[in-house]
Amino acid sequence: MTAPSWLQEEHALSLLTLVGAAEAGMREEIPVGAVIADPWGRILACAGNRCLNPVDPSGHAEMRALRLAAARVANFRLPLARIAISLEPCPMCLAALSMARLETIRFAATRLPDGMPCQDTPREHASASAMLLRDFFQPKRENENARQNQAQR
Ligand SMILES: [Zn+2]
Repeated sequence: MTAPSWLQEEHALSLLTLVGAAEAGMREEIPVGAVIADPWGRILACAGNRCLNPVDPSGHAEMRALRLAAARVANFRLPLARIAISLEPCPMCLAALSMARLETIRFAATRLPDGMPCQDTPREHASASAMLLRDFFQPKRENENARQNQAQR
């Protein structure tokens, strides 16, 4: 039995968010990715976090994907579009997504410590997203702990 086409498409979008996240991680950005698709499944934008270079506090993957998609369709409203994100959106991005009036918002991992999957996002995508984030932050935490231990001596 094959999965319905809409489910295959949602899985493909979710998988693409991991590509955006991994690409961001390779640039030393927090590995989060977002993909926006139109109602016919065409990709309007795929983006990863880019807050460090160029310096941009609003350079979250969702914000970047929104800007790209809006420019592509020459409209700041994306009422029939869908966004898939590798991580639960922050309040800034959630507000922007609301302003753009997207049809659906799906994310793979929650902001909970264990990165639990959300809705019908494939569990393996949530696990992969959580692993990308864990692999990104763990060495930074270890370095910070080592630095603090060194300072206490
Ligand atoms: Zn955000």
